[in-house]
Amino acid sequence: MPELPEVETTLRGIEPHLLNQRIARVVVRDPRLRWPVPDEVTRAEGQRFVSLQRRGKYLLLKLQQGGLIIHLGMSGSLRILKHPLTPQKHDHIDVELENGTCMRFNDPRRFGAFLWVDGNMAAHELLRSLGPEPLSAEFTADYLYKQSRDRRVAIKNFIMNGHVVVGVGNIYASESLFMAGIHPQRAAGRVSRQRYGGLVAAIRDVLDRAIRQGGTTLRDFVNSEGAPGYFAQELLVYDRAGSDCFQCGAPIRQKVIGQRSSYYCPACQR
Ligand SMILES: [Zn+2]
Repeated sequence: MPELPEVETTLRGIEPHLLNQRIARVVVRDPRLRWPVPDEVTRAEGQRFVSLQRRGKYLLLKLQQGGLIIHLGMSGSLRILKHPLTPQKHDHIDVELENGTCMRFNDPRRFGAFLWVDGNMAAHELLRSLGPEPLSAEFTADYLYKQSRDRRVAIKNFIMNGHVVVGVGNIYASESLFMAGIHPQRAAGRVSRQRYGGLVAAIRDVLDRAIRQGGTTLRDFVNSEGAPGYFAQELLVYDRAGSDCFQCGAPIRQKVIGQRSSYYCPACQR
């Protein structure tokens, strides 16, 4: 599933090809995504891209008037094609530019989204209640500490809640809790301010490394240059059940927390 680093990598991949370019045509071959692709997406035709941003796992493609919100869902990808090939199965949408370049949206499982926004994108219902970006200055130990008081929810579920902070997916939650030495089932309200400091640093570090390496889990992305977009990140605990902890040698454990597989070291994480 595309996680924050993959979405950020996608943004960086498409931005240089789209910014300031004018859209000639939007071709929707199959509107059946997570929500039906609205007819209004054709309002993009004739308009230039004025900015491209990421918010959580949403891509915000702002045009002169209105804009597009794209989510890659479970299996979506965007490609930039200089010489568009015949569309294949799952190539649901093409955004054709006046200069002949095409941005193609492919999504085999169709959990992605491709939406039109007339006004202020940040006020869109999908975006307005999102927590801070994990790599922003707003995301601090104090912030997490305050948000977590009286919360009995497991710390792992707490940091994976998009209203608390966006973009901390299952892999990154397991990895950052290991790096911070916090047991994934500890109640969020029982983590000290100081330990939240360590956790904030770990989340930033693990996401930052993934962005630099190009993400970990997306299989279907072909980047703008046509080369494979991602490299596998070295993971400390995720998917290592039974293997030795790199820090102490104890076997890594796996446990389902909040319906997601969680990996941790029972000796290093308290
Ligand atoms: Zn250990």
